[in-house]
Amino acid sequence: MASPIPISRTVKCAMSVVFYAVQSLARLARTVAGKRPARCMILYYHSVPRDQRARFARQLDVIRRHSHVVDVTVAGALASGHRYTGITFDDAFENYLTEALPELAARRMPSTMFVISGALGKSFGPAGRSEKVMTAEQLCSLPQDLVSVGSHTVSHPYLPELALDHARRELRDSRASLEQLLQRDVSTFSFPFGGFSSALVDFCREAGYRRTFTTLPAFAFSAGGDEFVVGRVRVDPTDWPLEFRLKLAGAYNWLPWAFALKRKLKGARSVEQILTKPAAERSVVREWREN
Ligand SMILES: [Zn+2]
Repeated sequence: MASPIPISRTVKCAMSVVFYAVQSLARLARTVAGKRPARCMILYYHSVPRDQRARFARQLDVIRRHSHVVDVTVAGALASGHRYTGITFDDAFENYLTEALPELAARRMPSTMFVISGALGKSFGPAGRSEKVMTAEQLCSLPQDLVSVGSHTVSHPYLPELALDHARRELRDSRASLEQLLQRDVSTFSFPFGGFSSALVDFCREAGYRRTFTTLPAFAFSAGGDEFVVGRVRVDPTDWPLEFRLKLAGAYNWLPWAFALKRKLKGARSVEQILTKPAAERSVVREWREN
């Protein structure tokens, strides 16, 4: 029997259709006024299992028809009126190498992989559903002209909960060990579980990163391409075609406002609390083990 469709996913998709209609009207008004800003959405994937490769490939074809693909590590000012997409992956699962990269390479699409430096060659993920992470050798074998590598900490902690010194070490040491391994600059960072704060952003600057990525959907590089904190939208090969197209068009960009509203209603103490997953969910995802 097919698994039931989660209500929250359906509601989010329906809300996004409405948001898309509003966005389209606003865009039309700007076009009439002679303003046609560029739009760039940055996607983040995790795993691309073998049985989902064909769906992933179809999503790449949708991206290609819809937009120009940019390398998010170097993308800057964008040409007005054009649509762009950045493709990123978190956690460096081995199936990126075996399933995702061949499809990306066949289309000459650049992508960025955010790596947990302490998880290389191990397994990572929720208990019972952990997946193999690339080995150091596999990471070194990625084609530099197509894949850029960023840091995703040493051990994938929820950074806002760590003592400041510990958080600093996670940012600094992961960058240093990846640079030593790859013998090249590692200048980008993505926050595990999307957990960040202004102090953590400052630590990232201090650690030498030039661009950081969150899990909050938003149009990227709209401020001339020099944002230090850049939003992304989560996608999966199992996304419904409509859901994927809406994410690609920026129609899920209302979510940060919904999180903020939820925070207000719940009386949460800080912005960081609503930028992230619930603590119980985090603790499950945090479990990882060696092969
Ligand atoms: Zn992660």
